[in-house]
Amino acid sequence: MTRRLTALAHEAVRAVLRAGDLAVDATAGNGHDTVCLADAVGPTGRVIAFDTQPAAIHATRERLRASGNEKQVQLVQACHSTLGEVLPEDAELRAAMFNLGYLPGSNKLAITKASTTLAALAGCVERLERGGIVSVMAYRGHPGGEEEAASIAGAIGELDADRFSVKRHDAAGTGPVLWLATRL
Ligand code: SAH
Repeated sequence: MTRRLTALAHEAVRAVLRAGDLAVDATAGNGHDTVCLADAVGPTGRVIAFDTQPAAIHATRERLRASGNEKQVQLVQACHSTLGEVLPEDAELRAAMFNLGYLPGSNKLAITKASTTLAALAGCVERLERGGIVSVMAYRGHPGGEEEAASIAGAIGELDADRFSVKRHDAAGTGPVLWLATRL
């Protein structure tokens, strides 16, 4: 199910991204989303990818090198809530991806937290251009996961329905949830 939702998120961002666009990966992790975004915006585009963990930044850099997409990506080893320091207020974002929780195989210490996730999400949403998309994948099976998913549901529920179209995909039970919010 996680694989299916991940594939759905990739498909959705690929459908709106064009060569030369600007995109954000809020949680670089092992770099799969970053490579997807970098591939879609091409060498004339730009991707800014955040992660607090050096190991994630390293893994993402290696994956970008292997795919030949290194040039168009800026890797930022910092909390995604610092987005406003990296991106100007008037930057026009075409896509932003969030893949929350912790890095599989890690010590589970660098886990996303609702307060900073919501700050980063707000920063992306306010810079999203018409036709742009934000995808948020949240995991409910780990401690704090349900709470984080609930606060994201709240924030996404508050988006102006005249300006955003939201689709929610749920795995069963405490499986992942994917939100896809498109700016109309
Ligand atoms: N749970 C997903 C993988 C998520 S990886 C799965 O199972 O496939 C999430 C990444 O977010 C980790 O690499 C972690 O280091 C990073 N992260 C945690 N808090 C962060 C923050 N505040 N800002 C940016 N990245 C963060």
